Amino acid sequence: MMSFKDLHLNRPLLRAIAESGYNEPTLVQEQTIPFVLEGKDVIASAQTGTGKTAAFALPILQLLFDNQDAPKRGKKIKALIVSPTRELAIQIEENFKNYSKYTNLTSTVVFGGASIEPQIDVLKKGIDILIATPGRLLDLHKQDVVNLDFIETLVLDEADLMLDMGFIDDVKKIERLCSKEKQILLFSATMPFKVEQLANTILKSPERVEVSPTSSAAKSVSQLLFYVPKPKKIELCLHLLRNTIKGNMLIFRRTKFGVDKLEQTLIKNGYKVESFHGDKTQNDRQDALTRFKNGDANILIATDVAARGIDIDNLDAVINFDIPNIPETYVHRIGRTGRAGNSGMSYSFCSADEKLYIKTIQQLIQKEIAIESEHPYPLDPKAKPEVHKKQGGSKHKKGRKSEASKKKKKRWY
Ligand code: AMP
Repeated sequence: MMSFKDLHLNRPLLRAIAESGYNEPTLVQEQTIPFVLEGKDVIASAQTGTGKTAAFALPILQLLFDNQDAPKRGKKIKALIVSPTRELAIQIEENFKNYSKYTNLTSTVVFGGASIEPQIDVLKKGIDILIATPGRLLDLHKQDVVNLDFIETLVLDEADLMLDMGFIDDVKKIERLCSKEKQILLFSATMPFKVEQLANTILKSPERVEVSPTSSAAKSVSQLLFYVPKPKKIELCLHLLRNTIKGNMLIFRRTKFGVDKLEQTLIKNGYKVESFHGDKTQNDRQDALTRFKNGDANILIATDVAARGIDIDNLDAVINFDIPNIPETYVHRIGRTGRAGNSGMSYSFCSADEKLYIKTIQQLIQKEIAIESEHPYPLDPKAKPEVHKKQGGSKHKKGRKSEASKKKKKRWY
């Protein structure tokens, strides 16, 4: 088995790694770190939970450490990590801070929705590594407080999510603002065509790294499937919370309307709930996450986009209140429980109109999900899909945003 020493990381990094309690590199680290150290461009498909952050953070720190110019003041930004969400950006920065603690390399994180002045102050002092969300980065660049001329490594993290959130033009612009001679590392949980296309336009003969979560994630989780009429899902959820599902759990819904509705119902029933979707302010989201991590609430309800990239460990259960229409999303969701050898549980609620999704999910994971038919709200096997009569998320069902809604920055997630 490979060790971190075999990856030729230097002492200050090895010390920080040991203190983090990592015994050996993960697959994505083993494969990515050598390429990054060689200065190559890399396109890596790896989801959160695979150790991908360290896969780019460690070799970047090593490269910067080896090529340090002495002065402490007047530091120039040498590495830029672009992340679609604030939460993810904060987590990446925490990783850099942790791994760099025995070096004098410095990093900071900037994101929108927070006051810009303190961010400007830190940037003016000079840092080596900048982690940023696209909008705020461009703002700061416009104000001339960020100079990207000296960037040696650019990381685009969660590229698929970045494009889903409509950041394609920002990302291309950021790439052009950086020095020409840079190395680019692109990380993405999935590799849809538009991500490949972006990679083709900006990466130079990239090395490919693929860490498939499919089999491993799906294997370590006990999955149960409940067929239930759509209007009875809330009752089924309450029934399971009372009788079966205990501990920390994440409940996924497709739309923010669904998240809000379920949150209100669960709170009315005395549960300690937090929620997470794209309309919440930065502070709301951070507070919700903190309360969940502290154990003040044991139920977190979220949309896929809002929950992506957030590092929540030790989940006892994942509930798919709505079945995702993209099968990879199912794998990502259930991959959040049963991590690192712990056994986890997933519960999926399937109504008549979602049966087809189950079929494609089972094809992807190459196994049948066990059906739990012993529950009070069974679905008549012959039931036809119900017609959507209400407003809400249904018109955005495919998860595509219209030009108009993009302009208005309306979010369904
Ligand atoms: P990430 O995929 O970067 O979000 O990382 C997921 C989690 O794995 C984080 O909590 C890391 O601290 C942890 N981690 C990263 N690398 C390793 C490793 N080599 N061994 C054990 N845990 C790790």
